[in-house]
Amino acid sequence: MGETKHSGPVKLPLKPEPKLWASKVPFGLGKVKPHHIRDMLKVAWDNKDNLPYAKRILTQGVCDGCALGVSGLRDQTLRGVHLCTTRLNVLRLNTMPEIKEADLRRDIEDLRKLSSTELRKLGRIPYPLIREPGEGRFRRITWDNAMEKIADKMKRLNPKRFAFYTTSRGITNEVYYTLGKVARFLGTNNIDNASRICHSPSKTALNRSVGVGASTCNYKDWIGTDVLLFWGSVAANNQPVSTKYMYAAKRKGTKIIMINPYHEPAMDEYWVPSIPESALFGTKLADDVYQVNIGGDIAFMHGIMKHWFEMELENPGSALNHTFIKEHVNGLEDLQEKVMQYNWEQLESTSGISKERMLELARLLANSESAVFVWSMGLTQHRFGTDNISQVANLALLRGFLGREHCGLMPIRGHSGVQGSGEMGADPFVLPGGGMDSENRQRVENIWDFEIPKWQGDIVGVSLENALLPDEHERKLSLYYLSGGNFLETMPNPDFVQHCLENIDLRVHQDIILNSSTLVDAKEAVIVLPAMTRYEQIGGGTSTSTERMVYFSPEIKGPRIEEARCEWEIYIDLAQRVKPDESDKIRFEHAQEIRDEIALAAPNYNGIQHLKIRGDLFQWGGAWLCEDGVCPTADGKGNLITVEIPELRKTEGQFYVTTRRGKQFNSMIYDERDPFNAADRDDVLMNEEDAQELGIAEGNPIVVYNQYGMYKGLAKFVPVRKGNIELHWPEGNVVIPQGVYEDFAGIPEYNTAVIVEKADSFYAQKDTKYAEKRVEELELEPS
Ligand code: SF4
Repeated sequence: MGETKHSGPVKLPLKPEPKLWASKVPFGLGKVKPHHIRDMLKVAWDNKDNLPYAKRILTQGVCDGCALGVSGLRDQTLRGVHLCTTRLNVLRLNTMPEIKEADLRRDIEDLRKLSSTELRKLGRIPYPLIREPGEGRFRRITWDNAMEKIADKMKRLNPKRFAFYTTSRGITNEVYYTLGKVARFLGTNNIDNASRICHSPSKTALNRSVGVGASTCNYKDWIGTDVLLFWGSVAANNQPVSTKYMYAAKRKGTKIIMINPYHEPAMDEYWVPSIPESALFGTKLADDVYQVNIGGDIAFMHGIMKHWFEMELENPGSALNHTFIKEHVNGLEDLQEKVMQYNWEQLESTSGISKERMLELARLLANSESAVFVWSMGLTQHRFGTDNISQVANLALLRGFLGREHCGLMPIRGHSGVQGSGEMGADPFVLPGGGMDSENRQRVENIWDFEIPKWQGDIVGVSLENALLPDEHERKLSLYYLSGGNFLETMPNPDFVQHCLENIDLRVHQDIILNSSTLVDAKEAVIVLPAMTRYEQIGGGTSTSTERMVYFSPEIKGPRIEEARCEWEIYIDLAQRVKPDESDKIRFEHAQEIRDEIALAAPNYNGIQHLKIRGDLFQWGGAWLCEDGVCPTADGKGNLITVEIPELRKTEGQFYVTTRRGKQFNSMIYDERDPFNAADRDDVLMNEEDAQELGIAEGNPIVVYNQYGMYKGLAKFVPVRKGNIELHWPEGNVVIPQGVYEDFAGIPEYNTAVIVEKADSFYAQKDTKYAEKRVEELELEPS
């Protein structure tokens, strides 16, 4: 933890810099690019019934979009307005009216014909609903009856047989904390959150490498660092205001490097709407792009380190920061031995990057005084996600890019609440203030005044699978209490997920809108509970951004869904009904009481109790974690981690597939067409040379398949590394196997080997395909 405090926002230069322009043609006319003005007008139109409230949310609230984080329209990095279309798109979730009675009464089969986008547009859930077996539609139920039914079921269950899950969109720290506490009070450690499917490996890896589970630096460190590396992250699309920070960085001479299988156009050039020069002529963002194979990142990082070790042999001190390593780093010899075991041929073929190109990046980093490494799901969503991130940390430790200005490790988060979820204890492996180790458990038990269960709770994917266990199994999932989330559209293999959801006795969906998972049958009942948004929450709420800035979002005056309740209140109500005799141990009357207790239970959050009005914020841990290289590990040093290069498990002729985001916010889709590359949702993004070898022309119907599923789409040629294809997420989940989890953090694997074929030839031979010729290849996949 650091002593230095964040120094606040800086000003952008006013004088234009034509060297950075993307095009001399004003507004990028004729280019494929987003139309921000048109998008903003559309949002204003969508919110026309509630414009004053929409304006108050934007100007007073903390953004419930991504975790870049902003309070009102001002951030802590740059002066000026901070606003993007992602925030504007999710705004409607907060301003829309209730679902019409006629829609709620629709036959369930009718509702099932609607996509989640159409369900979302129906409006807010107005009151508690229930649907039992044999019932063709939802019916209204009172809050009291709904809560009694859930409590009654819980009372009869071994706590290992129920589980909680919470999404991260719009959820506040107060809600996470209360849920984490209530789950343990009710005797279960089966509690998980959305970060399990996005950034859990980041936290796990950073903890083992440098002893912290969060970004070690600030966005401000991007501005003026020598090298800003985006690894498997399309920040320009998912955290759009980051492009403004990138512009500021470029004005200070920062080099931006993108490492990704696909040369993502959004990271290439961008028209930043709030910077006049950029809005007119665009800004060239990435200075260089390394198109790595999907899953080839560890080999690439080994290649960079191998170059460094070779440079050191020739010219000691030319690559590594020996002073930093000597004082602050463990494990150099082991790492060097491991890295040098691999030959260049292995490193090149696995990474897809030539030795010469690896040398370019190795030299660039070796000659730089500072660098910030930013990554996202391109690195985490692998069965070796934690190892991926450990290697990024290795690069930073070997060069001493840690704990000082313009240096650091930054897992950039997608959901506004995702950083806080684990830190508040809504996670099977952690409690507020630390892990489930006996020391932290004892400390938290003393604060909570009840015993915390000792058994290991299950991660979300395993909880779902537990629904299929035999009835007599002690972990057979019988009740799943979900706050938000839509597993059918986020987890691999939707058919399997549906089967699991149907096998649960009682499912509770606490949410603001319906989605496709809400409509799935359950064995005894599906109960739907209307939740408040963060802006309706009485007493306000806080959320933590990627850079550990804890922002207070006040309750904002506006229209209300009459029966919607604050989520932390619902959890307390549930706990008191299940264990009425101990209800005095689980009581919060006001959000302020929760913040007061968080400050005790999670010592990093000491300061949260003082956040009371709009604009209040503090950054936990100071400007730089591991300041001056001192890590909060047992010996104060960072650990270099040695790993094997994972094999890619794809045979000749197969492709590796990964998923990507288009115009969407997580699984919520806002347009069928990606404004950056004009790809439609069902397009299969592939390399033109690969396509030619298969006789596929652009726009041809093609089939992507393996033993897990089949995806039909149209071929679209893009600059993606040969041998790799990309499908939109979540549609592409049909070919992703379920049950393949990363060893350390339990994130599901979202990449796999597939066969790509023209649709007509696929259908011509489909009767014989599986039986006669592909079985061996198809069985190569891990199970
Ligand atoms: S970049 Fe993220 S935090 Fe900023 S306005 Fe957009 S969605 Fe909100």
